[in-house]
Amino acid sequence: MGNQVIQISNEEMKNIMNHYATSKITRNAPGVIFAAKISDTAITAYKSGKVLFQGAGADREAARWGPVSPGGPLPATKKTTASISKGDKLPANFAELSVLGSDETGTGDFFGPVTVAACFVRADQIELVRELGVKDSKQLTDDAMRRIAPDLQATLIHSVLTLGNVKYNEVQQQGNSQGKIKALLHNQALKHVLRKMNGEKPDYILIDQFAQRGVYYNHLKLEPEIIRENVLLSTKAEGLHLSVAAASIIARVAFLEEMDRLSALAGITLPKGAGPRVDEVAARILLKSGTEALKSMTKWHFSNARKAQQIANKKRL
Ligand code: MG
Repeated sequence: MGNQVIQISNEEMKNIMNHYATSKITRNAPGVIFAAKISDTAITAYKSGKVLFQGAGADREAARWGPVSPGGPLPATKKTTASISKGDKLPANFAELSVLGSDETGTGDFFGPVTVAACFVRADQIELVRELGVKDSKQLTDDAMRRIAPDLQATLIHSVLTLGNVKYNEVQQQGNSQGKIKALLHNQALKHVLRKMNGEKPDYILIDQFAQRGVYYNHLKLEPEIIRENVLLSTKAEGLHLSVAAASIIARVAFLEEMDRLSALAGITLPKGAGPRVDEVAARILLKSGTEALKSMTKWHFSNARKAQQIANKKRL
């Protein structure tokens, strides 16, 4: 199936809407201002001035309106960054396939939960997802992610899991490593999305890699259902397929929302990461609200817990 995208002015947008007016269809996707379907082509126009043509007649229809990359792929479909990521070898044009991706957040932060999201982006949704502002999440600010996430959640089949601190500490103290906790959450999120997909199969599943394949599956060996089919693992996966980038954004926003809730409880904005500022804030909470309160909003096995206790003890003297 052909795909073409052109960028046009407001004036041209009016012409396009007039031209296809009799074939107009309703599409309630975010960012879409006009959509039409003719016998061999679907036309979707976005607020940004981009118009997407999909189908056998895509090249012909797009050529009516402006310069197109001849027979080429979508303009933003660049070569994957496989050269800098490590992991499984991905098929050619992986970025254009239907992929279920997963990623996690919060594992390096003393305060707040671990969150994992999995997200399915079908090939024909890739342009829309890009249009919604999804790109490598490392290039987006927290505020940008907060704006994008609701559209993604409304548009894409996804699952997001928040492992709160009380449960996290309990599971960790039972002897489960962070790697195992992550593996269990990824597997669970993927399972949820596959169930919601109702029998539709992704071309591939891509996990943003945090452990070697053998280690990952060893963590899961006692699980009743283990997702294995077409699973690829790669580091920096958010740059390899928009499904992982979208999952990363959804996971991040779930993390931020839980941090908002915990900050309100603590009466102070909880800092991210695990640096000296974190120790200071933790010590203040310790002095004000006690050990159990601090424990209930942190990953207690981090060395920050001890440092906070030392700082608090000095202040008590
Ligand atoms: Mg990751």
